[in-house]
Amino acid sequence: MRVAIAGGGLAGLACAKYLVDAGHTPIVFERGEVLGGLVAAWKDEDGDWVETGLHVFFGAYPNMLQLIKELEIGDRLQWKRHALVFNQPEKPGVLSWFDVPDIPAPFNIIVSILRNNDMLTWTQKVRFAIGLLPAIVRGQQYVDNMDKYTLEEWLTRQGIGSRITSDIFIAVSKALKFINPEEISATIPLRALNRFLQERYGSKIAFLDGAPPERLCQPIVDYVTQAGGEVRVNTSLKEIRLKDDGTVDRFVIQNSNGTEEEITADIYVNATSVDVFKRLAPEPWKQLEYFQQLNELEGVPVINVQLWFDRKLPTIDHLLFSRSPLLSVYADMSVTCEAYANPDQSMLELVLAPAEEWIHQTDDAIIGATMVELAKLFPDQIPEPAKVLKAKVVKTPRSIYKATPGRQDFRPAQETPIANFFLSGSYTQQPYFGSMEGAVLAGKLTAQAINRQQSADASGSSRLSKSIDAAEELQPSVS
Ligand SMILES: Cc1cc2nc3c(=O)[nH]c(=O)nc-3n(C[C@H](O)[C@H](O)[C@H](O)COP(=O)(O)OP(=O)(O)OC[C@H]3O[C@@H](n4cnc5c(N)ncnc54)[C@H](O)[C@@H]3O)c2cc1C
Repeated sequence: MRVAIAGGGLAGLACAKYLVDAGHTPIVFERGEVLGGLVAAWKDEDGDWVETGLHVFFGAYPNMLQLIKELEIGDRLQWKRHALVFNQPEKPGVLSWFDVPDIPAPFNIIVSILRNNDMLTWTQKVRFAIGLLPAIVRGQQYVDNMDKYTLEEWLTRQGIGSRITSDIFIAVSKALKFINPEEISATIPLRALNRFLQERYGSKIAFLDGAPPERLCQPIVDYVTQAGGEVRVNTSLKEIRLKDDGTVDRFVIQNSNGTEEEITADIYVNATSVDVFKRLAPEPWKQLEYFQQLNELEGVPVINVQLWFDRKLPTIDHLLFSRSPLLSVYADMSVTCEAYANPDQSMLELVLAPAEEWIHQTDDAIIGATMVELAKLFPDQIPEPAKVLKAKVVKTPRSIYKATPGRQDFRPAQETPIANFFLSGSYTQQPYFGSMEGAVLAGKLTAQAINRQQSADASGSSRLSKSIDAAEELQPSVS
């Protein structure tokens, strides 16, 4: 079957990958000149990579790790020491480590919390543990039900002190979904914690060894094209044209030179962001409840800042939670990522979130504010003597869907009421929310739904289902 897919982010590409595995012929249309969407990156005038966002992988990403294994690119993940590392604003330059020992879950996480005395007192640890008990004992159902509360509301209900909110959960909320605890649904951090408590290496972090379009997206493209599929950049879905019965007749695609093309296929997939799809959805579909629920989902703004310095800063080979009100996580990519390695100069990549107030500010204002925050983290180097050689700011006004309470009910299934039309993307229903793992799993689930519905190739169907089941069971082999 020929399947037309709009959107060459991780969801669209993963969908294409699993469709060729099942014997179908996908053709992917990506609006941008590079693939990857929110993981896209491009080279600047000096040949340096500029990224849409700082990305890390977790051991608790079974579908992403399986995809990477299937593409035979496992050596491209650079696994770091098993720990979560926080800056301590009250002790500039001093880090707080939650080191996770190599013992079975959940004891590894429990020990890491018990051993950390920088951020939690013993009273707070006990209150934290008691507050978390229902999530541990009652599991996924409880975690799902907590979508009605913000994290802050949930912490108050559980009697967990505000110090924990400010010390740990602000950092975690901002890192996970680019918003603060008073906005984020409690389900999101609880779900992450649940995975970490269940999987020995779940909280272990890896960096890709280079820019995602080259090191992650291209192998998917090679895989898909070698199996007869096609991936085109600079081609934008402009219109979804319908037949009289309301199903899709064709995609109207616009090339970068302005010319239009009509694309017909057996099945059509939209793997653009939810914000883009809401604009593209044909009028008659907007009457349907399934499509109306999408009005409740909206992308959240976020900003990525990259700073090239004239010297090495005292950084570490890891992701850091800045615990700054302005910044979220950051890393010295000259240390953490092989392709960006530089023994003499640091390149910090930082995520600025929440970004609502900053998204319309100038790059200079954003860089200035970032430097003020960095002066607190590196008081001996910033503002003097370290000099910024170059700075790049990438603004994404609408990134992943904003994970506020109640959104779970509005996240659509990949299968739609339109027989020959499917959705994909990390905002669609899957348990990993707006993440790379969520995007890959959504792509896989879309391929599975197409296969199931059409069941044109019975053997392909069983192959695909098997591969999905295997991913759910996969224990990541990280070291
Ligand atoms: C700053 C930042 C940091 C992040 N950090 C992490 C992290 O550390 N770990 C993690 O797991 N996740 C992280 N994420 C989230 C992760 O990047 C996303 O969840 C994931 O990449 C989403 O993939 P997607 O395919 O669902 O959507 P997208 O990446 O949004 O893909 C949609 C694609 O559709 C294309 N498109 C749009 N309109 C059209 C059109 N009309 N026609 C054709 N194509 C179109 C877009 O160009 C895009 O390529 C981060 C995101 C950001 C922004």
